[in-house]
Amino acid sequence: MTQTTVAAYASPAPSAPLERTTIPRRALGEHDILIDIKFAGICHSDIHQVNADWGVGTYPMVPGHEIAGVVAEVGTGVTKYAVGDRVGVGCFVDSCRECDNCRAGQEQYCTSGMIGTYNSQGKDGRPTYGGYSTHIVVDENYALRIPEGLGLDVAAPLLCAGITTYSPLAHWQVGPGKKVAIVGLGGLGHMGVKIAHALGAEVTVLSQTLNKREDGLRLGADHYFATSDPATFEQLAGTFDLIVNTVSADLDLNAYLGLLRTDGTLVQVGAPEQPMPVSPFALIGQRKSLAGSMIGGIRETQEMLDFCAEHGIGADIEVIEATAINEAYARVLKSDVRYRFVIDVATI
Ligand code: NAP
Ligand code: ZN
Repeated sequence: MTQTTVAAYASPAPSAPLERTTIPRRALGEHDILIDIKFAGICHSDIHQVNADWGVGTYPMVPGHEIAGVVAEVGTGVTKYAVGDRVGVGCFVDSCRECDNCRAGQEQYCTSGMIGTYNSQGKDGRPTYGGYSTHIVVDENYALRIPEGLGLDVAAPLLCAGITTYSPLAHWQVGPGKKVAIVGLGGLGHMGVKIAHALGAEVTVLSQTLNKREDGLRLGADHYFATSDPATFEQLAGTFDLIVNTVSADLDLNAYLGLLRTDGTLVQVGAPEQPMPVSPFALIGQRKSLAGSMIGGIRETQEMLDFCAEHGIGADIEVIEATAINEAYARVLKSDVRYRFVIDVATI
């Protein structure tokens, strides 16, 4: 395949609504595969980046790093995939491949900086464009196999929301006998509940209100509390081995650190732009840890997909047409999502 032009949805400028456009996709290299994208999830990170919450963005910006589709063409040197295979692409499409982290399969922590699926610059020096588009060309080493038994629509959000919650749950060895709290029942949070439950942990949801309590329990939570009720913080003081904070806004971390037991860890995965002050005394009294975690490497993402297929776990999704992307963004910002919007790419 030579360079092609494909349809996409892009934001032309910071905070501007997304509109239909066309973008170039590079000619197929020796190790590249061309993916016919079927579904693309809408992650809150897409909204942060369109709005340039994390600093300067590159426009036009085609978001989308929860990509599921089918291989349409393969380069001459491709060995892992064949035409017709069901594949996914997550948050990065390349990395240096040489640093200790890349060699250890933790490409997301590439010391030269991973190459983001969008809002980044490829090794050819050109901007990368994400999954809100009909096709993507990606090196076979940065694609994932979507196991049979997982629908492409419910699998798409696993490529970011799934791995971002699986990775810390696996790293901190969550399992039977461990008490885990998931803060925020949105896209990441609902995957965190399903995965922590499947790993055998006792799971508590900490949501702003009790509005989604029934859903939370259905998804696998054992307990559900409202963080708007000050009694929650008294009742649950010193309870959890691990807290995964998925909230997209700044919170009083000190209050949440109070819910950890001795040696417990609060893992920050939510990425609000505002700093969150922490009192040393919230950590030192009971040897508590505050950590961060970002998505997962290719190997671990494949492990997560296989784990989800084995346990029958997909995302709970609302499939939308491409014309509804801007409306979906507004709903995500109001926490009105149950629990991931997924774009039907055939409508682009
Ligand atoms: P989402 O679907 O919007 O879910 C966020 C949830 O946080 C909401 O559903 C809501 O849950 C809660 N929340 C929102 N505003 C709040 C507020 N002001 N106070 C308290 N709770 C609030 O977003 P998402 O796609 O899951 O992403 C969540 C965050 O993770 C974003 O910042 C995103 O950029 C980040 N992220 C990080 C990584 C990583 O690798 N670390 C990867 C992907 C995404 P309730 O209604 O239950 O309270
Ligand atoms: Zn994401």
